[in-house]
Amino acid sequence: MTNILVVADIKQGDLKGSTAELLSKARALGAATAAVAVGSNVADLAPQLAAAGSDTQYIADDPSLEIFSAAPFAAAVVEAAKAFSADMVWFGFSETGKAAAPRVAVQLEAACATEIIDVTMDGDDQHIVRPAIANKVLQKVKINVPKLVAVVRAGAFEADPEVTGTENVVTLDPPEKDMAAVVKELISDASGEIDLADADIVVSVGRGAKDQAGVDLVKDLADDLAAGFGSSRAMVDAGLMAHNKQVGQTGKIVAPSLYVAVGISGAIQHLAGMNGAKVILAVNKDPEAPIFNVADFGIVGDLFDVVPLLKEEIKKIRA
Ligand SMILES: Cc1cc2nc3c(=O)[nH]c(=O)nc-3n(C[C@H](O)[C@H](O)[C@H](O)COP(=O)(O)OP(=O)(O)OC[C@H]3O[C@@H](n4cnc5c(N)ncnc54)[C@H](O)[C@@H]3O)c2cc1C
Repeated sequence: MTNILVVADIKQGDLKGSTAELLSKARALGAATAAVAVGSNVADLAPQLAAAGSDTQYIADDPSLEIFSAAPFAAAVVEAAKAFSADMVWFGFSETGKAAAPRVAVQLEAACATEIIDVTMDGDDQHIVRPAIANKVLQKVKINVPKLVAVVRAGAFEADPEVTGTENVVTLDPPEKDMAAVVKELISDASGEIDLADADIVVSVGRGAKDQAGVDLVKDLADDLAAGFGSSRAMVDAGLMAHNKQVGQTGKIVAPSLYVAVGISGAIQHLAGMNGAKVILAVNKDPEAPIFNVADFGIVGDLFDVVPLLKEEIKKIRA
């Protein structure tokens, strides 16, 4: 049997949905499953990790782990992987996962694959599927070494509400401090805005919005929907949006339930960041805009007319 260890994705003390998605997929593959939680005050998450589908919960809970630092985080994951004899270690798609995964892979002498969207087993053979060349093709890769560390792309798997596990907590010793690099402080975005990576709905603005007034109009729509507010690179280059709002190949990858693209043409580099959304709605005045090739719903029209109508309709529904 294959042993799959899922690294719990924890943000400000809460377990993110990606952890249950990964555990559900691991169980669907017929694997033995465990989860590892690394951080400060994370021990209380063990019942949730069991309910999400793990049969063993490795807990590395120590005040020294409060601020993420890749080396000690990876050390704790490696300890759990060895204790569980893990054939695969799966991370969700987060800055933490991307920073720790290669370190874990080196220490386990495992292959490391990022941005994967599927894992299949054929006997003992492991295959992964990942997009390449800005999402133009999908690669199916056979892993030729016994162990794999994978970073799974957001939204790749779905949590199965029927899946559950059993509580069996194993406490790990806190890892040694990383003396080569000590992270003293994390300065987070203090704007209080919804994080694009976590948002269930994302509304993004493109060059069609022209100027600050156009950006404000689309931002109002995002606020009405309690959505994350993103943008194309054109708006970042124009100085109208901050870089951390850019969606795409060189920006953030998002996988919300609903992605609303307003005045965005749908360049391949933009699609690379959002075509994992479950439903895509595009507003564009050009019926030939490539965004309509990926959109589930399209509104051909001037965004300065369409957005106020959408806002009006949302208000009516809410009332
Ligand atoms: C290496 C590289 C990396 C890149 N990375 C990224 C990335 O991460 N993310 C990203 O977004 N881009 C990226 N780009 C840029 C990308 O190629 C496009 O240039 C960019 O996405 C275009 O942004 P846009 O759709 O807002 O603008 P445009 O392509 O100019 O499209 C504007 C759209 O708005 C429509 N429009 C105009 N007026 C209105 C109106 N009044 N009402 C409704 N619709 C209207 C137009 O019909 C048009 O379709 C990258 C490019 C390169 C070379």
